[in-house]
Amino acid sequence: MYLKGVEIQGFKTFVDRVRLEFGPGVTAIVGPNGSGKSNIADAILWVLGEQSARTLRGARMDDVIFAGSEKRRPVGMAEVTLHLDNSDGSLPLEFEEIAVTRRFFRSGEGEYYINKVPCRLRDIQELFLDTGSGRGSLAIVGQGRLEEILSARPEERRAVLEEAAGIARYRWRKKEAEQR
Ligand code: ATP
Ligand code: MG
Repeated sequence: MYLKGVEIQGFKTFVDRVRLEFGPGVTAIVGPNGSGKSNIADAILWVLGEQSARTLRGARMDDVIFAGSEKRRPVGMAEVTLHLDNSDGSLPLEFEEIAVTRRFFRSGEGEYYINKVPCRLRDIQELFLDTGSGRGSLAIVGQGRLEEILSARPEERRAVLEEAAGIARYRWRKKEAEQR
């Protein structure tokens, strides 16, 4: 599985819809300070279900919505879609291409979609479990996160290792079953 592209609209600096294309190899994003490079990583993390505004470098969740500039009014909604190539079947869905979308409105309402079909946050979390690319994985390492992991409590560090070892899915299902 690899990330083929990201579509961003109304998220942080990206007021107009943009589609960034990525290849199967390594992609580097360069640009001046403040031009929105880290905002792209934030957008990816956000679609994967990040719920912490602080991790997204904001104070509240609506800080991810374009807040306006000298020339543009603020907008009311942020939307990000990840386009994933799943031709190797590493995501447990029978599709060669998977689009995962998250929307968030200033009213506080949020929506998630897999291939344009509405779904729950937990469907997205489960989709990425044990793939090494979920929200809790080490696929996205932000500034300061490495230090956080090194100084984490043993249980938290174990969760990172379990995700890498591919057993997080089973622990997650057990917890779900116990809650019912
Ligand atoms: P650096 O090289 O310094 O790491 P960067 O390219 O990673 O820079 P980002 O952190 O992605 O830059 O972008 C920061 C910019 O995003 C700031 O100018 C900030 O004002 C802007 N920004 C963040 N949230 C919003 C928002 N909700 N609406 C409009 N602009 C925003
Ligand atoms: Mg940055």
